[in-house]
Amino acid sequence: MEILKVQGVNKAFGGLRALNDVNLSVEEGTVHAIIGPNGAGKSTLLNCFVGRLIPDTGSVMFGNTSLIGLKAHEINQAGVSRVFQTPEIFGDLTLLENIMIPTMARRDGEFALKAWGRVDQDAEIRDRSMHMLEDVGLASKKDMIAGSLSRGDKRRLELAMCLVQDPKLLLLDEPTAGMSRADTNNTIDLLKRIGERGITKIVIEHDMHVVFSLANKISVLAQGTVIAEGTPQEIKGDPRVQEAYLGG
Ligand code: ADP
Ligand code: MG
Repeated sequence: MEILKVQGVNKAFGGLRALNDVNLSVEEGTVHAIIGPNGAGKSTLLNCFVGRLIPDTGSVMFGNTSLIGLKAHEINQAGVSRVFQTPEIFGDLTLLENIMIPTMARRDGEFALKAWGRVDQDAEIRDRSMHMLEDVGLASKKDMIAGSLSRGDKRRLELAMCLVQDPKLLLLDEPTAGMSRADTNNTIDLLKRIGERGITKIVIEHDMHVVFSLANKISVLAQGTVIAEGTPQEIKGDPRVQEAYLGG
């Protein structure tokens, strides 16, 4: 079954056509990778799924729900969660507090932040948050200030902040960017474990090692156009993909 269907999406910034009639079909329970050279339009496309950008034309359907024109928090509440290219965490708060905020938002919606003063007292929220930190291997750092974490740990924390909200669709924009090989491998393992829970994932990634170890299907974007689509095996041998990467 299809969880996300993108049809005829166009987006221009002034004279620059960032997305050119993009079609994409993502099957529920799969990992769908979007690859392509720098500036291909990958982040722009994800921004159209989460309410940060509105396409000039085209449709984005999440199940039976059109995501076009919805506010970011409405899309989030519908079950779409996103890990950004630059981690968005609360740098001055502890790891546990960072997880408790989205945990509370999941239960109480927009009232979460108003209720922040008493989030600390809530055993259910605290327990669920603690479990999530254990799940991503950050439990021993629960009282550390998030801003002091390594880049890899910040990403893991941000991923946990998304997962604790039980998304149906998780969007990851370069989840291993700037990570050491060891951190990259840990992240791959973590993403595979998330896969076992049946969460559908769209992953933008430069690192081919990551793409080929995770993806069921790959769409290749170049200059705003999907130039190839297929399984990792099919994409590996596609001359158009080689050409796009070599800039030919
Ligand atoms: P990718 O994520 O594949 O590297 P982007 O989606 O970030 O590519 O960018 C696609 C193109 O659109 C690039 O040429 C970029 O400079 C341009 N672009 C992206 N966002 C904006 C914006 N807000 N305003 C103007 N141009 C933009
Ligand atoms: Mg990008």
